[in-house]
Amino acid sequence: MCIIKILFFFHFSVREGTDERFERLRLYERGFLQTGYPVWRGVLPPPQYDIERENRFHTKVFLGGLPKDTDEQDLREQLQLEPTTTFEFPFGDPRRGYAFVRFQTSQEVTDFLANSTKKPWNNDSIYRFIKDRSGETRCVEVIPWAFESAYYPQFKRTAPSFLTVLVKNVHGSLMAAQLAKIFEETFGPVFQVTVLTGNDGYPRELAKVTFKYREAYKRAVTSRYLDVSTPKMFRRLSINPYLKPASCSKCFYANGTVFCRDEDCLLYYCESCWAEVHMVEGMESHATIMWTFRKPAKARHVNENE
Ligand SMILES: [Zn+2]
Ligand SMILES: [Zn+2]
Repeated sequence: MCIIKILFFFHFSVREGTDERFERLRLYERGFLQTGYPVWRGVLPPPQYDIERENRFHTKVFLGGLPKDTDEQDLREQLQLEPTTTFEFPFGDPRRGYAFVRFQTSQEVTDFLANSTKKPWNNDSIYRFIKDRSGETRCVEVIPWAFESAYYPQFKRTAPSFLTVLVKNVHGSLMAAQLAKIFEETFGPVFQVTVLTGNDGYPRELAKVTFKYREAYKRAVTSRYLDVSTPKMFRRLSINPYLKPASCSKCFYANGTVFCRDEDCLLYYCESCWAEVHMVEGMESHATIMWTFRKPAKARHVNENE
């Protein structure tokens, strides 16, 4: 394994520039090379936060790049936060290097951001500087969630579900407009993107992307995954057709309880029509990629929680 890695590194160090070489090595180490999935690489447009406006931000804010030896009290003191703020550490462990801080009001978030540093040379990222226990200065990245980031475009339109895909494993900082850019450049023109949020209004790693044309939708569904690589993060997004209760596309009266996701079909069928259609030679293989749900309530479950 190690020898292969060294050979691989040497191979690319001869043929490619430094950035590309490290990028490929990073992908290789994570086992993402040669999977055949499309990869989107680039720098995302910075978020356009207008921090003058009120009630724009979710009271939950992400903090990244925290020192390993920090704790709630230390952070509250160094970030000059109100005693009413609370922290959520991943698995309750402050040593993981990131945390969510909860403010009491949206206005408190706005004030906190106004007192933070913005780095125009680093994609407009927002930072706070704190010291770790050894006295060294650390740069903590602050990522707020603005409510309108969930929609692209800003005004809501009715999106046809037969052109919509459900995207899972969406990085918490990805906004609808950024996802639209990624999907448009990879698969084709995008009509609308919605980042799905939980009951508390905070993103839950799911998004719906609606394309303008069937071709783009088809490309997205059949690729199944999309690797997104930016200087700040790497994510493998999974892409599935967005399912909703529908009638069978063959007999038109029974419930379409089976969705065949093969690119030749991408249609809902009832079970007997599905069997009939797929008896034809060359279509038997569709069985491995069919998707079943029985009740309308279950359909929502398949879409949003799996
Ligand atoms: Zn049918
Ligand atoms: Zn089929």
